[in-house]
Amino acid sequence: MASVHDLTAYRAQAAGTGEPFHVAIIGAGVAGICQAIKLQEAGIAFTIFEKADDIGGTWRDNTYPGCSCDVPLHLYQYSFEMSPEWRNKFADHKQIKAYLDRVVEKYGLGPDIRLSTPVASAEFDEAAGLWRITTEAGEEIDANVLVAGTGQLNRPQLPDIPGRDDFKGEAWHSATWNHEVDLKGKRIGVIGNGASAIQFVPEIAKVAGEVTIFQRSASWVLPRPERQFFEWEKSLYRAMPWLMWIQRTRMWLNGEQLLLSFRHMGWALSKAHRKEAETYVADPEKRAKLEPDYDPGCKRVLFSNDWWPAMGRDNVVIETGGIECITETGIRTKDGEEHALDVIVYATGFDTTHFLGPVDVKGLGGRDLRTEWQGGATAHLGIGVAGYPNFYLLYGPNTNLGHNSIIYMIECQTAYVTQIARKMIADNLAYVDVRPQAQAAWDRGVQADNAKSVFASGCTSWYKTADGRITNNWPNSTLTYWRKTKRVDWDDYAVVARGQTRARAAAE
Ligand code: NAP
Repeated sequence: MASVHDLTAYRAQAAGTGEPFHVAIIGAGVAGICQAIKLQEAGIAFTIFEKADDIGGTWRDNTYPGCSCDVPLHLYQYSFEMSPEWRNKFADHKQIKAYLDRVVEKYGLGPDIRLSTPVASAEFDEAAGLWRITTEAGEEIDANVLVAGTGQLNRPQLPDIPGRDDFKGEAWHSATWNHEVDLKGKRIGVIGNGASAIQFVPEIAKVAGEVTIFQRSASWVLPRPERQFFEWEKSLYRAMPWLMWIQRTRMWLNGEQLLLSFRHMGWALSKAHRKEAETYVADPEKRAKLEPDYDPGCKRVLFSNDWWPAMGRDNVVIETGGIECITETGIRTKDGEEHALDVIVYATGFDTTHFLGPVDVKGLGGRDLRTEWQGGATAHLGIGVAGYPNFYLLYGPNTNLGHNSIIYMIECQTAYVTQIARKMIADNLAYVDVRPQAQAAWDRGVQADNAKSVFASGCTSWYKTADGRITNNWPNSTLTYWRKTKRVDWDDYAVVARGQTRARAAAE
């Protein structure tokens, strides 16, 4: 069996025993890269296992026209690696991917990333205090700690619409864009109008013959305070990097304020949406179709300066009749109308509630995480799961945001996991396991707060399971999350030293 300890020259030794201590990270996206850097700083060895042949996660996969980040870049980057080189405030996917490439290069992570190595399963061996990991190729690897940086938005979801395979034209999902097809003059059907659609529709509408959006529910879309950075600004940031911190803090406060707006000032957000609609869309019937029937924030509020001008175009049609089926030549709506199409783009989002996707995770006594999460995923602080020692999730259950930067949350989580790994090395621990009571108390609190939040105010969204449990979102401020994750509360964990059994540990 190949040991992960052989895979990297970068090592740390567990105190006293001289045994190597190693962390396996699944996924080389924003979260996995961040975790690797935090471990590197702590002198702890790691290997990242990445299923694809390149790093970057969502910023590798999503290349659709207009793909960018609607969180300002001063905030949507690592706090320890702020770049003065961004061209504009809301960078496109190419800039973000290039940034991640540079970070990987700067920290020398390349040799510790194994590309094209999807992890199939992981099982905790209690006696050895090790995760026994198996890749899809059948390779077996051991690690003391397993960290899943597998994200929430990377398994494209195609809708279960009858006739989906019958369509004879070109069809693809927004996250697997087909750049080979020339869209000039084409009749394009777009199913869905969430965050991805509102970014690519304005781009394709410029060249398409006609774009028909098959809308099930409308989105709240507000202007994006976009601007280019001047050269002199970049020079200032290079000379005085602390200026970027001022911007970052401002953007972070804006984000926190958005949470307050969801709670108390939804009317102001709706007003901003209506103002844009009235400015750009002359047809009142079209405007009415684009007005959501739920509170701003229940689904993600979107920010764009291109969406409303695109909605004003004559070659953009909003179809709200509901899809009956997909045919060989297009889409038939429930009113019986046939919409002839050359291309269908599924902007239908991702499978978000089955965290970890295809990876099988088995904890103490062979317990199976997928089975335990059948009623909805949950984890203490969104990070650890009782019964699955030394296993941690980044961007796990109930840590998605509607109002601020997910990188802020990921930095909290990676620092927390690093604290645990350090303690394991320092105290020569075999494993630490979240106490079920701590996890249950956390979950009760999060679910109670979510029940009072805008996410529960009456809409369907990817934040929830089919039966309505909110498994994805964090209902409170990011400051609160930082406070809760800043220091590991060891009372929340059962701690088992090497050579000690769990029962003995409990008795002592
Ligand atoms: P999404 O927000 O989940 O939107 C999916 C859309 O497809 C919704 O409009 C949904 O309608 C519709 N839909 C799903 N199934 C359908 C069906 N069977 N028939 C008709 N319509 C259907 O997905 P997304 O746009 O890919 O965005 C997902 C998330 O990715 C975002 O919320 C955001 O967190 C992230 N993202 C971020 C950025 C950024 O700039 N930071 C950009 C893109 C994406 P309903 O609403 O009625 O369900």
